[in-house]
Amino acid sequence: MISCPVCKQKLMLNFTMLVGSLVVCPKCGTDLRIVSRDPDRVEAVPEEETLNAEGKPESYA
Ligand SMILES: [Zn+2]
Repeated sequence: MISCPVCKQKLMLNFTMLVGSLVVCPKCGTDLRIVSRDPDRVEAVPEEETLNAEGKPESYA
């Protein structure tokens, strides 16, 4: 069991989720990256990373 680093919402990670996977906090909507399993740890993804991924769809063309 982990807690969202932003809002402290308790989160359950699926066991198939690996380090580096992204999850979204269901409470505050923050993108979280799994940085460790056993013990489970997540960190908030910097906002500019999510903007790069979602806000510039042509950047990879
Ligand atoms: Zn949260």
